[in-house]
Amino acid sequence: MSHSGTPAGQPGPQRTTDRAPALSEPARAYAELVAGNRRFVGGAPRHPNQDAGHRAAVADGQHPFAVIVGCSDSRLAAEIIFDRGLGDLFVVRTAGHTAGPEVLGSVEYAVTVLGTPLVVVLGHDSCGAVQAAREVATTGTQPQGHLRAVVDAVLPSLRRAEAEGVQDIDGIVDIHIAQTVETLLGQSPVLADEVAQGRCAVVGVSYRLAAGAVRPVAAVPAGFATLDGEAGPLDPAAPAAA
Ligand SMILES: [Zn+2]
Repeated sequence: MSHSGTPAGQPGPQRTTDRAPALSEPARAYAELVAGNRRFVGGAPRHPNQDAGHRAAVADGQHPFAVIVGCSDSRLAAEIIFDRGLGDLFVVRTAGHTAGPEVLGSVEYAVTVLGTPLVVVLGHDSCGAVQAAREVATTGTQPQGHLRAVVDAVLPSLRRAEAEGVQDIDGIVDIHIAQTVETLLGQSPVLADEVAQGRCAVVGVSYRLAAGAVRPVAAVPAGFATLDGEAGPLDPAAPAAA
């Protein structure tokens, strides 16, 4: 994916017009997350919107700019890795970022009631839920209790990876992230309509536990996450994330 490599939050490359084109609400939201992740990766977080004054200010209502559908993994705390604070992110987390009815309802609430313009599916390397599903697919031994529901939700991604000849765990993780993006849109006509109307975008990103950086692996509308200039890609190879 080609892009300018311009760090988010800094002026974009010189353009032929006098002013940069206005970014859509989804693109602005994405750019905020890119910028926050780069601060986190670079060891220079600003911890915005975490003070007592802001806490009081948002008590009367919330207008989060992004929904995060993330894995519950303890190392994947959304506000920390995107360097945000109170009222910024509407976070829904399950082991393996599954997309069952309550998750879909939570996403629809944020997008339609709160007007949140961006949905981000957040997966990561070495995901235990994906590894558990692969174990079940390999051995046929089912897990105990409700853990089976988590595994069942991940298994379609395992079958897709197998069909595509992908065997390494991180490649399977990427497929599962893309699968979750498709499931959200496929199971929620409400969300799909918001995207079709241009009011919302859905991006799947993969997080690396050690580096702390995220990179896009799927986006709807297509190409959204590779917008250059101010929005920029979530690209761990970019200079700011090195
Ligand atoms: Zn995980």
